[in-house]
Amino acid sequence: MRKLTKQIQIGDVKIGGGAPCAVQSMCSTDTRDVAATLAQIGRLAEVGCEIIRCAVPDMDAAIALAAIKAGSSMPLIADIHFDYKLALKALESGVDGLRLNPGNIGERWKVAEVVKAASERKIPIRIGVNGGSLEKDLLVKYGHPTPEAMVESALGHVRILEGLGYDQIKVSIKVSDVVRTLEAYRLLSEAIDYPLHIGVTEAGTVFSGTIKSSVGLGILLHQGIGDTMRVSLTGDPVDEVRVAYDILKSLDLRKRGINFVSCPTCGRCQIDLIPVAEEVEKRLGFLDKNITVAVMGCAVNGPGEAREADFGIAGGKGEGLLFKNGEIIRKVPEKEMADALVEEVLRSTESQKP
Ligand code: SF4
Repeated sequence: MRKLTKQIQIGDVKIGGGAPCAVQSMCSTDTRDVAATLAQIGRLAEVGCEIIRCAVPDMDAAIALAAIKAGSSMPLIADIHFDYKLALKALESGVDGLRLNPGNIGERWKVAEVVKAASERKIPIRIGVNGGSLEKDLLVKYGHPTPEAMVESALGHVRILEGLGYDQIKVSIKVSDVVRTLEAYRLLSEAIDYPLHIGVTEAGTVFSGTIKSSVGLGILLHQGIGDTMRVSLTGDPVDEVRVAYDILKSLDLRKRGINFVSCPTCGRCQIDLIPVAEEVEKRLGFLDKNITVAVMGCAVNGPGEAREADFGIAGGKGEGLLFKNGEIIRKVPEKEMADALVEEVLRSTESQKP
């Protein structure tokens, strides 16, 4: 059962308090390049990204956030480190959320100014503790960025905001290994009722990062922990969003996109199935329909699986059987299988994109 956290709101997206776990990503573009950033946000929107974060390394980036906010179809979060003036400018630019650690901003009056400006605009703040940048005194006390050290750091930042009367908070604790991530979030979830942003940071490339994120975030979500998530990958952020939804779908927590089924192939397969499966999955990746599409290699398990799906193809020798709602529609030559299946899905669901 999901832990019931306090609810906050980033733009029009509810976080915590029983709302569906929201999927977010971070732009990899230079924030000062508004056109490139908006183009990336557009691609992320197509695959269902719900919240976007941009790094704010300097004042030009903080100013550029206004144009990005104006052109973005989803709520925008400014990622700030150290400089309270950047946070104030980002708020002026109209962002929907801030990610900053109040303990790293310096004097209390600077934090107080940011909190005052955020609170006037009802803008939530995410405290994001990262194992790689833990406070020195905690490293001395614990020796390493242990889960306990990171939770102590997070609670210290939370207390600063609470001391200023602010409670529009969400918290993340990120390290690059799964075991410490699990323990840190377990401890944090026991300690506070603020919504949690979960992720395994610096998880790696699309291949290794997907595995680490699926294991780490999958376990946390299954334990009821996590109100919004970001999958961190060294790659296209579009893949981060796709992986996030696949994790959520595999746990029955979100329904976005098709359920795609394909067989691993074996010695019985007499068609070149892998490119067909890859093409079908890619071309239907944009489709937000609650349907199952199956691509199967042969007549042993293929027809059964294809029949169970809403749409499917079961390979034969140099050809395949096309299924819809459990019925065989027709035979198609191997070369036309991907096209035939995709076109049938699009026609039947009245979807436009090729
Ligand atoms: Fe092998 Fe056929 Fe099963 Fe695919 S569906 S793994 S080809 S037996």
